[in-house]
Amino acid sequence: MTTPNTTPDVHASTTLSLKGKTALVTGSASGIGKRIAEVFADAGANLVIADLKLADAQATADEIAKKGVKTLAVQMDVTDEAAVDAGFAQVQKELGAVDVLVSNAGIQIVAPIEEFRFSDWKKLLAVHLDGGFLTSRAAVRQMIASGRGGCVLFMGSVHSKEASKLKSPYVTAKHGLEGLAKVIAKEGAAHNIRSNVICPGFVRTPLVEKQIPEQAQELGISEADVVKNVMLKDTVDGQFTTVDDVAQVALTFAAFPSNALTGQSLVVSHGWFMQ
Ligand code: NAD
Repeated sequence: MTTPNTTPDVHASTTLSLKGKTALVTGSASGIGKRIAEVFADAGANLVIADLKLADAQATADEIAKKGVKTLAVQMDVTDEAAVDAGFAQVQKELGAVDVLVSNAGIQIVAPIEEFRFSDWKKLLAVHLDGGFLTSRAAVRQMIASGRGGCVLFMGSVHSKEASKLKSPYVTAKHGLEGLAKVIAKEGAAHNIRSNVICPGFVRTPLVEKQIPEQAQELGISEADVVKNVMLKDTVDGQFTTVDDVAQVALTFAAFPSNALTGQSLVVSHGWFMQ
């Protein structure tokens, strides 16, 4: 049995500010990205909700607008160069240059490597790596042109550090994002652009809910055993990380005012992985 999750309000008393900044979060109609958008709005940022379906992005944008910040919903497949560039152009026109990018959109596909379809390998790498490249390139262009610099955050994972069975492209992609963040940290420094990676442990979002029965089938164990003996086995307390835990780390990186904190990755995983 797992012990209960930490409640979201453990982070309630933050004073970090993003007032007047424009933040674009990809994959923010759901899960971790949605919570990051909400927490950034609470910190005063105007929010661009970018996701595959405009209706989903719009629903999240409408919810967040109730917090009194400006919001913009953008339909953006992060694997599509033209869609990414058009989305950023729309943001520039309607809200001004992006100050904070969270490249968060992601998918998961699990299978043993000997059965992994090449098409699935390419699909997963495209969302995480092509998406990371295309969105950060577009953001960096705007940050340089605005003269204000900014913050590029990538959603890594404990799988940026560790491997798990059945996840060959995911582990490969999440390791790769660390390299991209370090290059942007070096190239961006002259323009006051910082770049970092957040590495969550398992968070109970739709992406993970889908994996539980899939892994149970692949590994020939029960769903309860997948949670206890696969997902949370190496945590210090048998708990899932929460969307709010990840969002608060994102806010800390986004609001951090100097290049002292760049080119880094931070694991937030209940001690599953310790650096
Ligand atoms: P989620 O499924 O709840 O949300 C993912 C979002 O990304 C969805 O809204 C989806 O529509 C969007 N998306 C997928 N493909 C896209 C594309 N091509 N273009 C634009 N948007 C796209 O999943 P989540 O758990 O919130 O995952 C968010 C990120 O966090 C992912 O990068 C994931 O790898 C990472 N992550 C998740 C966990 C976890 O345990 N949930 C742990 C570590 C890292």
